[in-house]
Amino acid sequence: MNPDRLFDAFPAPEYRGNQKDALRKVREAFADGNRVVLVRAPTGSGKSLLARAVAGCARTVEEAAPSEATDAYYTTPQVSQLADVAADPLLDDLNVIRGKRNYTCILSGEEDTPVDRAPCARERGYDCSVKHRCPYYSDRAIASNRRIAAMTLAYFMQTAGSEVFRKRDVCVIDEAHGLAEWAEMYATIELSPRTVPIWDDLRVPDVESVERAVEYADRLRNVCQRRVDDLLASDELSPGEAARRDRLQELRSELGWFVDDYRDSGSATTWLADQADDGSLTIKPMDPERYLRHTVWDRGNRFALLSATILNKAAFCRGVGLDPADVALVDVGHTFPLENRPLYDVTQGKLTYEHRDETLPKVARTLVRLMAEHPDSPGLVHAHSYAIQSRLADRLRDFGVGARVRTHDREDRDAQLAAWKASGEPEVFLSVRMEEALDLEGDLARWQVLCKAPFPNTNDSRVAYRLEDGQWGWYYRNALRTVIQAAGRIVRSPEDYGATYLVDTSLLDLFDRARHDLPPWFADQVDAMTDPDLPEFDPEAALSGIAAGVDPDAASPSEGAGTTAPTPTTRAGGDQSVSAGTTGDTSDGRASTSDGGGGDDGSASSPVADVWDVE
Ligand code: SF4
Repeated sequence: MNPDRLFDAFPAPEYRGNQKDALRKVREAFADGNRVVLVRAPTGSGKSLLARAVAGCARTVEEAAPSEATDAYYTTPQVSQLADVAADPLLDDLNVIRGKRNYTCILSGEEDTPVDRAPCARERGYDCSVKHRCPYYSDRAIASNRRIAAMTLAYFMQTAGSEVFRKRDVCVIDEAHGLAEWAEMYATIELSPRTVPIWDDLRVPDVESVERAVEYADRLRNVCQRRVDDLLASDELSPGEAARRDRLQELRSELGWFVDDYRDSGSATTWLADQADDGSLTIKPMDPERYLRHTVWDRGNRFALLSATILNKAAFCRGVGLDPADVALVDVGHTFPLENRPLYDVTQGKLTYEHRDETLPKVARTLVRLMAEHPDSPGLVHAHSYAIQSRLADRLRDFGVGARVRTHDREDRDAQLAAWKASGEPEVFLSVRMEEALDLEGDLARWQVLCKAPFPNTNDSRVAYRLEDGQWGWYYRNALRTVIQAAGRIVRSPEDYGATYLVDTSLLDLFDRARHDLPPWFADQVDAMTDPDLPEFDPEAALSGIAAGVDPDAASPSEGAGTTAPTPTTRAGGDQSVSAGTTGDTSDGRASTSDGGGGDDGSASSPVADVWDVE
């Protein structure tokens, strides 16, 4: 890597905000010999352009000895981020490759068949005459041969060990704050009727310890191997059989990884096993250091990790298995005016389970007052869970303001999000887990509400284990990260503005407890937080900005497309403001030693897929 190329490799014609300063600091950090540089850069810093500049410093083929790694990877866990990169003309030399399931076959009669179920995946020795034109194999060839290959983190991890995507000189990971959690998630093994195609043939024992889980996993991987061998003996498979073969191969690989890692006395990973009443088993790694080494750290010589919310260098390094001595942290300041991104304290109590009955009605009434405060402006409410969302929606309907409220469920979240953004009405969207990877620039949302401090779920065995171990710093940082991500959803440029209202008292407690982990620019927001003077509770006033007869529940994603969002009546920093935050959902993304046979299948419009990059 040649960090002196950094400024030349910056793809924009001019610098904006703190970009030049950030490049200078990044160059120094690499020039000092750091293997990994963490770039903590807030929304609007042009992280992707910085990422492109770092990738451009990779050693070229001409500069390298035959055995040396060259060129660069760009990867991100967020599908929408990859889509943004692919659409940015300044980044047109990032060559994007996605998982097979994102492409379809081009053979006659197979046009609707995803590549991983196409004839080449079903028939032994199939020699495709048009493989050179196949969209998947073309993209893969281009990505593997050009200077910068761009892919989701799921695909990147899946291709660990592949001949096609070998070690490169530089790896850039954008939106890297959740790397440890994503690795834990991808390395988690779920054994259930949904994930094990031969489940009905299995006798799953009672697994009362991890040792017992290891014994069972060892046996099961042999069973998977035999079944795979049977399927591989066929000359031609049906699409269903091909799917079963792929899943069994994947499962065999996952189980093998678990068994080997557990028996490796040098491994830093702790494994937990949870069993449900129906026998379903979830095997979870904590601190999957060896897994990350295989899927990430062995894939490059130098790394740049970018995010607004890498909050604590030492803790981050510990979580992802890095030696802090090899890592530098570069802090990039915020360039958006503080008055454009205000936080407002409208706390009503705690939303924990035991306080919810008391607090939730007050929150609903506060929402009505906020709707009256912003009669003409769409608002986003981060409800945190479907249980809270449902109860708030019921209350708001009882108050008579249901015509302005839109909700979603697990199945229609993409459609409802798209419909809300396109509606042209000042609807209030009660969302669940939309704290990340959502870009609500301008009038798409001028206010948002954070209903509950997004602490990790203590019913999760990994969370419980950490808390028993006294890792409260991890617990608070995790929640804080989500809050800061959420707060960035509605203020996307120096000219943009939007207000974030906090209704859960625990959020204030969180800011106190995690004060030392606040980035300076977010600490400024917290310090500037005020208690706004809201209108009285008045459902009529809350509805005054919507057209008569609006029925958000009946809207489809196409409805209202192209209409103009209403002009906000107030401006953050004057007498009101808003902000927001959220976290992701879980997924079944997996890493294997294949070159992208599965996974990486997210829809670009799905916030769930966005965060976790799965279907
Ligand atoms: S290689 Fe050929 S058979 Fe396979 S998906 Fe591409 S076009 Fe279809």
